[in-house]
Amino acid sequence: MTTSNAASPPPRSIVEAAGHAVGAGTLTIIAGPCSVVTTDQTVRVAQIVKDAGATMFRGGAYKPRTDPRSFQGMRKDGLAMLQEAKQQTGLGIVTELLDVRDLEDVLGVADVIQIGARNMHNTALLKAVGQAGCVVLLKRGLAATIDETIGAADYIRCEGNERVILCERGIRTFETTYRFTLDLIAVPILQERSGLPVIVDPSHAAGRRGLVTRLSKAAIAVGADGLMVEVDERPEQALSDGPQQLRSEHLAAYMDEMRHAASAEDRRVSRVA
Ligand code: PEP
Ligand code: MN
Repeated sequence: MTTSNAASPPPRSIVEAAGHAVGAGTLTIIAGPCSVVTTDQTVRVAQIVKDAGATMFRGGAYKPRTDPRSFQGMRKDGLAMLQEAKQQTGLGIVTELLDVRDLEDVLGVADVIQIGARNMHNTALLKAVGQAGCVVLLKRGLAATIDETIGAADYIRCEGNERVILCERGIRTFETTYRFTLDLIAVPILQERSGLPVIVDPSHAAGRRGLVTRLSKAAIAVGADGLMVEVDERPEQALSDGPQQLRSEHLAAYMDEMRHAASAEDRRVSRVA
């Protein structure tokens, strides 16, 4: 018998979000456009996401952009679009909060509040969503270590909110031929070290749609608790992240591939009834 001095890892937690048990051995797939722009687009894509059998709908109303002159999101109007999509499809909504001042508005529609990579170090925002007690999808920062990512999650948990899901979305390395380096080793390490569910966003890492399916399968193989993938109906006209978004007419085939990859590991995709 071997003995070890290492402390045993924390038990894995399950986070209930919009009626789904994230981290319970199923696969949670969150899909939707980078940005919501019109009600028609939002509702149509949400219906496609539902029909394809994904778990929840994502869409950005407040957008963190590198250039302040770029599209910043539809803001409150965007939240109303998400509300309409939620009403018409019954899908849970994942959307990003950029500013503490918008917390109440975002809480009005979001089943899961996303804290984006650029805000992972924003301790005021982390404390605020911790105090709000809502489900938080915390994305790893562009240049954050695993310890720093766990520290950011602890800011939320120290406020008494254990409902945190982590997201590996690629980190900045010396490599420039694709957008970010998807750090798949981080997935089991974050799971073990934090005890939290960990999902993977292949879209922002790849930066182009042709790589998204393969990265998604790799994420399932490494044990991710879910995926968050961008999909839009006319990605070439999208106001943000067009090149990386799957075309909505290809989502059903993508979901088939994900179900197949999941079933190879005796897992299934959690979907709305
Ligand atoms: C997004 O999900 O649209 C987004 C802006 O992601 P990230 O914070 O990972 O760049
Ligand atoms: Mn995006």
